[in-house]
Amino acid sequence: MTEAQTRDRIAAFGRSIFRRGLTFGSTGNISVRVDEGWLMTPTGSSLGDLDPAAISKLDGQGNHLSGDKPTKEAFLHLAMYGERPKAGAIVHLHSTHSVAVSCLADIDPANVLPPITAYYVMRVGTLPLVGYYPPGDLDLARAVREMASRHHAVLLANHGPVVAGVSLDDAVYATEELEETAKLYLLLRGQPTRLLTAEQTTVLNQRFPVKC
Ligand code: ZN
Repeated sequence: MTEAQTRDRIAAFGRSIFRRGLTFGSTGNISVRVDEGWLMTPTGSSLGDLDPAAISKLDGQGNHLSGDKPTKEAFLHLAMYGERPKAGAIVHLHSTHSVAVSCLADIDPANVLPPITAYYVMRVGTLPLVGYYPPGDLDLARAVREMASRHHAVLLANHGPVVAGVSLDDAVYATEELEETAKLYLLLRGQPTRLLTAEQTTVLNQRFPVKC
């Protein structure tokens, strides 16, 4: 895919995510690895209205090269890429159900959501909770980096998910799967629920290992 095509694809996914209410206002950001570094959605921009030509370009060290200034949450993306060389794209949203789950007092911080469906296990698997830090706090980057070597998806407490994929499609679909599973989890809370068993989860992990 050429860089121009990648820019168009980021804008198209951004529009789709925004129109479906998966993020709102100027929240949420998307990045894609390119030959010279990364393309990243700009600070203050709405995912629903991205100008492909204005999408920020960063070099391999994370320095701003061209386009609008990158998202203030660029450090989250760079922390994840730094630990996952196969990651081709990262999506971070303030998606309602995922954020709601990230605020619950009784979740397991080692793995926030149970194995409700096969597709969740295949696309996300284990989801650790990263402790709360104020926006822009560099300790947040350190906390994400610590978990990113073992997990391609993490949930920031009282904030939202950060999800890496081998491709942009992969990262978006995994983020959507996470959001839908968070919604299912909230719908099922307090009801007797048949989760996938440890054996069923192991079979899925063996057949569909995480790609990035
Ligand atoms: Zn955020």
